[in-house]
Parts: sequence; C-alpha cells; structure tokens
Amino acid sequence: MEINYCMSCGAPLEIRDVDGTMRKACTADGCSFVHWGNYSIGVGALVLRDEKVLLVRRAQEPGKGYWTNPGGYIEQLEMIHDSIKREVKEETAVDAEVRGIVALRDLPRNIHNVYIAFAMDYVSGEPEPDGVEVDMAGFYSLQELETMNVAGFTRWLIDVALRSGSDGLTEDPAPIVKMDGHGLFRV
Ligand SMILES: [Zn+2]
Repeated sequence: MEINYCMSCGAPLEIRDVDGTMRKACTADGCSFVHWGNYSIGVGALVLRDEKVLLVRRAQEPGKGYWTNPGGYIEQLEMIHDSIKREVKEETAVDAEVRGIVALRDLPRNIHNVYIAFAMDYVSGEPEPDGVEVDMAGFYSLQELETMNVAGFTRWLIDVALRSGSDGLTEDPAPIVKMDGHGLFRV
C-alpha cells in the first residue's frame, strides 16, 4: 500500500533522508511525522477460573470455527490494559482484571503485528458470546481442550498461562518518575 499523505496532518509526504535511511516524511512546517512502516498491535486475554481458561469460538474469518482466547486490536487513545478488559467484556460478558503481561508474539510481515498477552483474574459474569465476533464462550479445562478445535497460537498461550508460575510484567503502581498518560509495566 502506498502512503502519500501525512497520517498526522494530511499534508503531502516527500521522500527524504531520515537518519541515513530514505523515508516518507511530512512536508508541512512544524509537523514531524515520518512514515516508519505499517504496524498493528493486538491484545489477548488469558482469564483463569478454577484451573479453567476462558475461550471463545470465532464466528468470523480469520479463524472461523476455531477456539481462541478473547482479544482484539488496540484503539488509538486507549490504554492497552483498558483495551483488553473491554474486549473480554464485549466478546464474553465476563469482567476480568489485568494481573500482568505474560507473553508477546512478534510477526513481521506486510503489516508488522505485535501481540501482547495478558494474564487476567476473573471477577464476575457468566460467559455469554456476543453472537457477532464469537458464537460460543466458556471456561474449559486442559482435558476438555483436547477434543476442541483450538488454534495453535492459543494452545501456546494457554501453556504459558497455566505453566509459567509468574505474573510476568505487572503495572507499576508507584513509578519513581511521574509520567502522566504512560502505562508502565515492569518486572
Ligand atoms: Zn504532517
């Protein structure tokens, strides 16, 4: 895909040298936009309750008919820990709280995708599929998963969630430097 206009201010882009690499950059005075590439960021939830994990059956492509953990893409101005709580609520009607970031997948391709997986604690609600993105939702044990059509990547994430024994990166409740608007997760 060709990008010809600034994604920040709409002015035409030109190709110029940015720190030794030719890149598309904005021509407008006072705008510092550089088109670094095409990226997307996904978030996924591993919600555990009584040694069972919350899964949904996808009703849409890609992956229609496969069981996955709930998740989606982040929104422009939303903190990622809010994005994942929203996605879980929308897809399954379950309320869950973030415990930590337990896995990350890097997938460089046409649109370079990074996927961040959160371990989450079940709070309330019985799983109810949204009927649009997913047509089934529930908590399942490892034994039950054996006879279900679970996506490969989801199997890997479930293994991480159930066997890692770590909360991973957790949100820093009192960072040593005050940084408004930043989500800070640390070991
Ligand atoms: Zn611009």
